[in-house]
Amino acid sequence: MIGFVYPDGTENFEYDVRGLLTSFFPGEEIRKIPRPLSEEEARAAGFRVVYAVPDPDFSLPYEEIKNTFKRRVYDELHVITGTDLPWGTLTGIRPTKLIMQLLEEGRRPAAVAEHMRRTYYLDGEKLSLAIAIAQRERAVLAGLSGPEGWSLYTGIPFCPSRCSYCSFTSYPIDKAASKVEPYLETLFYELEQSIPLMKGVTPDTIYIGGGTPTALSASQLDRLLDKICGLVPADRVKEFTVEAGRPDSITPEKLKVMRSYPVTRISVNPQTMQQRTLDTIGRRHTVEDILRAFGMARDAGFDNINMDLILGLPGESAADVRNTLAQLAPLAPESLTVHALTIKRASRLRHEGGENGEEDRFGPAYEKEEPAAMMRAAAAGAQEMGLFPYYLYRQKNMAGNLENVGYALPGKEGLYNILIMEEKQSILAAGAGNISKAVYPDGRIERADNVKGLEEYRLRIEEMIERKRKLWL
Ligand code: SF4
Repeated sequence: MIGFVYPDGTENFEYDVRGLLTSFFPGEEIRKIPRPLSEEEARAAGFRVVYAVPDPDFSLPYEEIKNTFKRRVYDELHVITGTDLPWGTLTGIRPTKLIMQLLEEGRRPAAVAEHMRRTYYLDGEKLSLAIAIAQRERAVLAGLSGPEGWSLYTGIPFCPSRCSYCSFTSYPIDKAASKVEPYLETLFYELEQSIPLMKGVTPDTIYIGGGTPTALSASQLDRLLDKICGLVPADRVKEFTVEAGRPDSITPEKLKVMRSYPVTRISVNPQTMQQRTLDTIGRRHTVEDILRAFGMARDAGFDNINMDLILGLPGESAADVRNTLAQLAPLAPESLTVHALTIKRASRLRHEGGENGEEDRFGPAYEKEEPAAMMRAAAAGAQEMGLFPYYLYRQKNMAGNLENVGYALPGKEGLYNILIMEEKQSILAAGAGNISKAVYPDGRIERADNVKGLEEYRLRIEEMIERKRKLWL
C-alpha cells in the first residue's frame, strides 16, 4: 500500500498525482493520508511508501503550474522507484488528443515532438507512435463531416457467456433469455424518440456494440437493423459497424441478415489464438471456431473485418502473442485492435479464476519487461500484415503502463473509434449502460448516462430520453 500526503492548496491536482502514483506503483493500493508518518508508524499502518507531495509553484504563469508540478512529482517518484514511465507525465486516456491540438495550431511535427518531450517527458517509441497516429487521425477526420456530424451507438448487453475479464455491461444470453425481448422493445423506443433530436442530419457512422450484438437470434438482429435503417439513412453513412465479436455467436444466417443491410464493417474477436487461454478465460469457443467464423464472414462478402486481441492474459508471454499474430496473418483482417489487460481486470481474473473455476496463472504476463515485449510483438505482427497504427487510448492501471492501439490497412481505419477518442463530434448512444456525448461548436462536451441494469433501463427509459433531450434541444 502506498500513502500520500497532500500540501494545502493542491487539491486540484489530486487526480493527476493519483494517476502518477498508480503508474509508478502498478497494482498497489494508493491511499491519501492526513499527515506524514514516521517510518515505524507507516510500517505499522501497512504502508510500503509514504510520499509527501510537494507544493506547486503558484508563482508560475497559470498554464505552467500544473505541468511543472507534475514533472516535479514525476522526478521525485522516479528517484523513489528507480523507474521511468513510457508515457512520461501523461495520465489521461487520450494522449493523441493533445498532439492533435498542437498540429491543428499549425505546429510542425518536429516542434510538437520537442514540446511533448519538454512538457510531458514523452519520448522514444511512444512519442513517435502518438505523433504518427495523430497525423493519421487528422487525415481521416478531414474526410468526415465537421462538428455538426454525429455517430449513433447502439448497445446490446448480451453475450453467449461472460468472459472472466469482462468489464462491460453484459449478461449471458441463456440466463437472461426472458429479458431480451423487453430490452429490444425499450431500445427501439429509445431510438425512435432520440434520433429525431439530431434534426435529420445523416450520421457519419453507426456502431452496434455490446456485449455481443450477434448473441441475438437472426430474426432479432434483423429487427434491430431494420429499426435503425428505418430511422437513419444508413446507406449514406461512411461506416456501419456491427461488432459480431464472439465467434461462437456468428452463423451464416446472421451474416446474411447483416449483408442485407448496409453494414460495412464487422468484428470477429479472437482475443488470443491460444486454446488453453481461451479455456481459462471462459470464452467457451475454440481456435477453430474463430477460423470458421472468419471464413464465413469472408464467404458472406465482408471486406472490412476487424479482430480484437488482448495482451496480458493469464499465462501468456510475448511468444504466445507472436504465435497468435502468426495464426491470424493468413486471414489478412483489415484491422486489428490490440488491448492491454488492465491490472484491475487481471487481478479479478487472478482472484476469481476462469468460469471453469480453474486457478489462473499469470506467469510471464506480469514480469517486468513482458508487457512491453508483448506490445512490440503485436506491433511487429500488425506491421507484417501491412497494418498501420491509427488510434490509441489508455486506461487507468494498464499492465506495464501500456496502451490500446488500433491497426488498419490504409482506408480501413475504424472511423467510429477515432471519433470517440478525439471527441470532435457528438455521439448519440442508446441502450443500457451507454453514454451519449454532445460536442458543442465551442468545443464544450456534455454527457448523458444511461443506467446499466436491464430492468432499471426499462423502467427509467423516459428519464434516459429526457437526459438526451437536454443535451440537444
Ligand atoms: S464477449 Fe466482450 S462483452 Fe461479452 S462477456 Fe466477453 S468481454 Fe464481455
